[in-house]
Amino acid sequence: MSGIEGKVIAITGASSGIGAATAAHLAERGARLVLGARREDRLADVVDGITARGGTAVGTVIDVTRRADLARLTETAVERFGRLDVLVSNAGTMAVSPFDELRQDDWDAMVATHVTGLLNGIGAALPVFRRQGSGQFVNVASTAAHVVKSPQGVYAATKTAVKVLSEGLRQESGPGLRVTLISPGFTHTEGVGKGASPEAAAAMIEQRDEIAMPPSAVASAIAFAIEQPEGVDIGEVVVRSTAQA
Ligand code: NDP
Repeated sequence: MSGIEGKVIAITGASSGIGAATAAHLAERGARLVLGARREDRLADVVDGITARGGTAVGTVIDVTRRADLARLTETAVERFGRLDVLVSNAGTMAVSPFDELRQDDWDAMVATHVTGLLNGIGAALPVFRRQGSGQFVNVASTAAHVVKSPQGVYAATKTAVKVLSEGLRQESGPGLRVTLISPGFTHTEGVGKGASPEAAAAMIEQRDEIAMPPSAVASAIAFAIEQPEGVDIGEVVVRSTAQA
């Protein structure tokens, strides 16, 4: 199946920001969606908005750090729609801070969400894709996977891990499976600065308000990778505002 119409697409971190914008964009293009995040009310708002516009979406409360939750997300796709064509691993947290602040819980959360969370998604979706003989992983990294800027060391390390895992997975995927890395620059979402140390948060929010692109720009990049003909794999899309250095 090529294009977007009719594809069954699961998205993690769909309750706000890039995930919610991607869900809205793909629903408009006729995808059938299974959306996951932890905040039930925000997820329900996204699902209701899509269905009110005539789209098809179901929500599943998940925490990507839990293996069983990702299994439930992919099972929901198969039970409701009979298959899973794409898993967009987008859930993330930008709780950045200088190392000297020793915010070790935040370090753990970034590793758990970006690295373990991605692996949980691979573990849940890969057997489904192998059975079908087709499927696509779309993994959201960051321009921080290319350039480290203080105080984003831990965040950049986990996003670099997303990049490396994606390439390793791509090399083992074989015909029929696709792996795409999406590396956005500053994007105008509520996640920028959330959970970060006060100084880092203020700097990020100032930058966001000056140079960020809208989340719909990342949604379009994700759609571009999904709509390619079967057998064509967009390896990576780096997408950033022209105002970002
Ligand atoms: P948001 O905070 O708006 O979105 C983050 C999403 O991830 C939310 O839906 C949140 O939902 C979900 N999430 C976080 N932790 C978990 C978890 N453990 N389990 C399930 N869902 C989780 O920020 P963005 O849209 O900006 O971020 C989306 C992705 O884009 C992230 O991976 C981020 O690193 C990346 N990115 C963002 C950039 C930016 O400038 N905004 C730039 C480059 C990359 P909930 O809290 O309901 O679980």
